[in-house]
Formats: sequence, C-alpha cells, structure tokens
Amino acid sequence: MTEPHETPYPHLLAPLQIGRHTLRNRVIMGSMHTRLEEAPRALERRVAFYAERARGGVALIVTAGYSPNAEGRMGVDTQALDRVEQLTEHAPVTAAVHEHGAKILLQILHAGRYAEHDLLVAPSAVASPINKRTPRCMDEDDIERTIADFALTAELAIQGGYDGVELMGSEGYLLNQFCALRSNQRHDRWGGSLENRCRLALEITRRVRERIGPDLLLAYRISALDLVEGGLTGEEIGCLARGVESAGADLISTGIGWHESPVPTIAYHVPRAAWRLATARLKSAVRIPVVASNRINTPELADEIIARGEAELVSLARSLLADPQFVTKSATGRAQEINTCIACNQACLDYIFSGRSASCLVNPRAGREIEFDATPAINPKRIGVVGAGPAGLAFAIQAAARGHRVVLFEAGRQIGGQLNLARRIPGKTEFLELLRYFRVQLARHAVDVRLGVTATPASLLSEALDHVVVATGSVPRQLNLPRVDPAKIATYSQIILGHTVAGPRVAIIGTGGIGHDVAEFLASADVGAGADVAASADVGASASGGVNANAGANASADSPHDAMALARFFGEWGVDASAQSPGGLQQPQVPASARHIVMFQRSNTRPGARLGVSTGWILRRKLKSRGIAVVTGCEYLRIDQLGLHYKVGGQTQLAEVDTVVVCAGQKPEQDLPAALARSGVAFDVIGGARVASELDATRAISEGMQLAHTL
Ligand code: NAP
Ligand code: SF4
Repeated sequence: MTEPHETPYPHLLAPLQIGRHTLRNRVIMGSMHTRLEEAPRALERRVAFYAERARGGVALIVTAGYSPNAEGRMGVDTQALDRVEQLTEHAPVTAAVHEHGAKILLQILHAGRYAEHDLLVAPSAVASPINKRTPRCMDEDDIERTIADFALTAELAIQGGYDGVELMGSEGYLLNQFCALRSNQRHDRWGGSLENRCRLALEITRRVRERIGPDLLLAYRISALDLVEGGLTGEEIGCLARGVESAGADLISTGIGWHESPVPTIAYHVPRAAWRLATARLKSAVRIPVVASNRINTPELADEIIARGEAELVSLARSLLADPQFVTKSATGRAQEINTCIACNQACLDYIFSGRSASCLVNPRAGREIEFDATPAINPKRIGVVGAGPAGLAFAIQAAARGHRVVLFEAGRQIGGQLNLARRIPGKTEFLELLRYFRVQLARHAVDVRLGVTATPASLLSEALDHVVVATGSVPRQLNLPRVDPAKIATYSQIILGHTVAGPRVAIIGTGGIGHDVAEFLASADVGAGADVAASADVGASASGGVNANAGANASADSPHDAMALARFFGEWGVDASAQSPGGLQQPQVPASARHIVMFQRSNTRPGARLGVSTGWILRRKLKSRGIAVVTGCEYLRIDQLGLHYKVGGQTQLAEVDTVVVCAGQKPEQDLPAALARSGVAFDVIGGARVASELDATRAISEGMQLAHTL
C-alpha cells in the first residue's frame, strides 16, 4: 500500500490508535448476517470470505451476530457462542484474518422480541409488529443471567482469538428494546426513567469490560436514530452513548433505525450517507471514536465524513460484499476499478430473507469465494460475445481476466443493455456506477468492444472465433388484443428512454418490477417529461465504451449528495433530522404524483408480491401514498382513443387514459441462437436470451460469470 499522504483519501487511510490497538486505516467491515454458516463447507467458506476482505485492506472486521444464550438466538438454528466446544468454528476465522493484518471482533447479539422461536424474551410482554410471537417478560433472574451470558460469550470470543467484541445495541434488538418506552413498560429498576431503561446496556458493557480486561477492544453499536414511535430522542441517545463510554467501551459504532421502522435506512431509495448528521451528533456527545455507517459506498464520501470530523471511522458492509478490495484499490490509485455497491439489496438481504446465503448482484463471487477461483484458462480461446448487457459484460470481463481473447459485439451505441433503463428510474442512478465499473474493466482486460455492430452468423464466422456466447437479452412482450390504437400505447423502454411522452393520465399493464419502476418514474415530477429526460440521463454515454469515467451516480440529476434530495427523502418518510422528537419521526410530507396512474394485472395475487423482500414494501408504500391504484383480476379487451377497456368481476370498464404503458414481461431474443445452431458454430446462450422469465441483473451477471469460469 502507498503512504496515506500520497493518496486522495488521506483521512480514510490514516491509522488510528485505540488503546493498545493500532487500526491500519479507518475502514471497518460492519457486521452482516450472511447465512454462510448454514451453507455446505461452511467453515471453509467463512474463512475464505473473511480472509478475502482482510487481504483487501480493511482494518477491522466485525462478525455476524452471535447470541449469548438460547433465548437470544434469531431462530432455533441460528448461531450462539455459549460453549467452549464451539470455538473450533471460530479459531480458523480469526487466524485467517490476522494473517492478513486485520483485526476482528465478535458481535454479541441478543434478538429479544425479534426471535423467531418460542423461547423469546423481552423487557415487557409486548410483541413487535414484525413478529407474531409475544415475548415472555424477563424477570430479575433472567436479566442477571443474561448479563452473565454476555460476559461469558465475550470471554469465549477472546479464547477464540478475537481482538474484542461488539455489543449489538441497535436495529431494535434486546438492548434497544430495554432502552425505549416503546418496548419497555417495566416499573422496576430496569424500566421507567431513561437511567433505568439504559441500565441493562451499561451493566452489560461494564461486566464485559471487566471480563475481557483493559486491553481488548470493546465496541458498542448504538442506534443513532431509532426511527420508531416511542424511541429515544437525539439527546437521550447522546446520554446513552456517554454512559456506554463510562462503562468501558472503546468505540461507538452506529446503526440506524429498528427492523420495524417505517423508514427505509439502507435501500437505494436512501440518499448516500443520509444519516451522517446523526453520527456527527453522537460524536459531539462522547470522547471515544465514533463509526459512521449506512449508504457509504465510495472512498470520496468515506474520506469526506472523516475529514469533516463527523466520525473517526466508517463501517462498510455491503460495499465490501461488492468489492473486497475497496481499501486496496482506494490506496493504490485504482478507485475507478471499485465495484460499487448499488444498494439494490437483491442478492444480499433478499437472499438472506429467502433462506439463502448472502451474495452480491454486482459480485456473484461474494460468499462463493471457494467456488470461483481466479485460475487462468488452460486453453485460451478467441471468444466472441454478442450483446453488451449485464450478462455479456460479466462474461466478457471474467473470460478476458482468465486469459481468453474476447471480442464484444453490441448493436447499440453504448454498453449496458437494460442497465440503461434501470439507471433512469428515480433513486436508481447508482446503476451508473456499475456501468462505470464495466467500462473500466473492459479497458483493463483489453476486451475488443465493437459498438454499433449487429453480429450475424456470417460475420461471426469471418472473425475466426473458437467460441461464441450469445447474450442478446430479451424483448418486451406485446399485448395480443384485437384492437389497439397505436397513438395510445407504448412499451416501458419507449417511456423510460423518453422516446414516447406519457400524457397526464396513464394505465400501466403489468405490476412486476418493471411496472412498479415505470409507475415510480411517471409519478416523479422531475422525470418522464420526454426529450429532456433522455438527454440528462445520457450523461456520460460515449461511443467508445459507453460511459464516461466521471459519470458516476454523483453526476446524476438526483445526486445522493444533493441536499434537496436529502430534504425530500426526510420529508417524504417523516424523518425528524434534528431528532428532537422521540424516535426522530414526524408527520411525512408525501409529494403528489405528477400523473394520474392506475396499474393493472390479470391475476388476483397481491400486486408486487414478487418484488424484493427488502425493497418491495418501500415501492408499494411510495406508490400507495401517491394515490396510485392497482386493479387486479382483469381481462384486457381493447385500447382505443378513449383509453383502456377491460373486464373485471364480469363488468366491462373503461380507464380513460392518454397513455397505456405495457410492462407485461419479456421474451427471449432468440433469432441469433437459432441461426447459429444451423451454422455449426460452437456457442452458449446466457441471460435473457436463454430464459427471459424473471430475468434480473443478478441472474444475468451470475450466469455470465459462471460460464466464464468453465471455458
Ligand atoms: P414480471 O415481474 O414477470 O411481471 C410481468 C407483469 O406482466 C406481471 O404483472 C404479469 O401479471 C403481467 N403479464 C405477464 N404476461 C402478460 C401478458 N401476456 N399480458 C398482460 N400482462 C402480462 O416481469 P417484469 O416486470 O418485466 O420484470 C422482469 C424482472 O426484472 C423480474 O424478475 C423482476 O423481479 C425484475 N425487476 C425487479 C425490479 C424491482 O424489484 N424493483 C425492478 C425491475 C425489474 P399478470 O400475469 O397477473 O397480468
Ligand atoms: Fe450492494 Fe446490491 Fe451487492 Fe447487496 S446485492 S451488496 S445491495 S450491490
């Protein structure tokens, strides 16, 4: 690594002394649930996962949460550390991290009323709105035993080679539950006054410090904003932080919101570093170092937060799933090569919520390090790739990195395929970062990119290729109706690209991910107005590689750095940024929809049921609050100058609209595979061209990368 003063990120890369520990820079890998412990070859997988992030330069890693006892586990099968025999699962991890010069803390997490099993306990027998089980109220003995259990787990962690522990006091788990009136209705010394409610947090901190001694690291993860009714005010959070400091913590790390908060805290809808003010407020309350977290995904932003004195350290979690080499690349002048987390949650949180181990949309290798080694190809080939959408790009880059010579043919004038639609949706400008990453990697691996070239079997044969990969994507499904007025109808791509301007009254056919995206696009006052949209969203497009190197998400119209965007986000979701109100909430100010929009689907299922678990609720709530209605169980009859005629519940109805936007899924673009099959060329088909149904960027990129590892 270069010296910090030689880099553009001197604050981020400066070492920090905490007690007897020197952190080599200011980047912490924050705690993440990964479910890697449930996957096949679990220990090997976890060792590889953590070792790769340590090798990539982070200073300190915090593990996923381990419960101190049976009641505190999230589920019956989730992890606890309460017996010495369990250390065989930990020592190889700590050794691997230390071998690469990083430090590692075990996080101790008691789920309290969030636990999904019948042993759940809490300060009071009050169920959480996100858990149908009612917890048992803890008595004095339970509380004393729980404190002792935290101390024992901390001691075991030290025996397992950890450099210390982090106490999980945020996201609405047990320690939060004790601190807030929302969940603590006790009248004994553990409830009532703020001092009483915070007693458990401080007592655990004190007893853990006593047990691990003065030299090991003790971090406390505090909720810098509760974002729930009946939560703490900013001033009360400051008091708690000072108490934790006095009780022996070395470090305050921050979380934002409880799991039951009605406000998104990390999804792409949240502007970058939206919560930095809450962290800065905490920092002014204590003398020990404070860690900023949530939606920090570039070294510029991380450096700026530290430079401005808002925090001493930053915690990156998903950003290190996306790119384990975030720190090394920042330190060696290769920040443009960083694979940036786009806050989609699609392959990290959504996988976790659906029982799979975490990975990453932009980096399918995350969590699968032992499956995707980077060995060079045994027989380097000359490979033609047709289509520069996410599948084709991922394949081209990986194949070239393994030593194949790759020619990438793209009929359009820019790389990216449907990513160029996604990046125009409000809040999704982070996709520009993915396009920048692909462009930089194409150049780095000397992929021969041919834009504006429509490949045919004959042209491919003339290139003397050993193999062809077809990644031509999919085409929008058309409606099959007896009568359609062409002046009224548009495809989603025509609308998003600004080729068709929607009128003030719109019907959207289809309520999948694209239907919801189009609704959000057309509801927004800033976009959807036609030519201007296309021009502004084309920022950075270039014939040579598709995207200008400077055109990251920061260059977009709704830049996450923009104070207006932040104020709009806080207003829309009812965030009291001053945190003077309990929980930091106030009345939301929802902007009106820019158009009258109705969405339609044929089935009677819940609209948007297949949207991502961690982001679907945000989209549904946004659209509902703007008055966008959904009609289910309908049969489409015709589209004429009056609008959309349809039948629902046996009755014929008319939606008087100016524009009908068809978002009815896609079909594979299979002309080329059929022609290649006749020509005798060896080829594979990936992404939407193979199967269009339920295609998303996660599958497209993953298929491209997997194929590149087999050739
Ligand atoms: P989709 O999720 O499969 O939705 C297609 C919609 O079209 C459904 O509402 C379906 O409802 C309707 N439909 C299907 N066939 C139809 C037909 N012949 N005539 C009329 N309506 C028809 O597909 P998508 O919206 O195109 O999204 C594609 C993929 O991208 C999905 O995997 C999606 O998850 C992903 N994506 C996700 C997001 C997000 O999560 N925010 C955003 C964009 C894309 P009925 O059959 O009930 O009519
Ligand atoms: Fe970030 Fe999306 Fe990857 Fe999750 S899946 S780490 S949100 S890019």
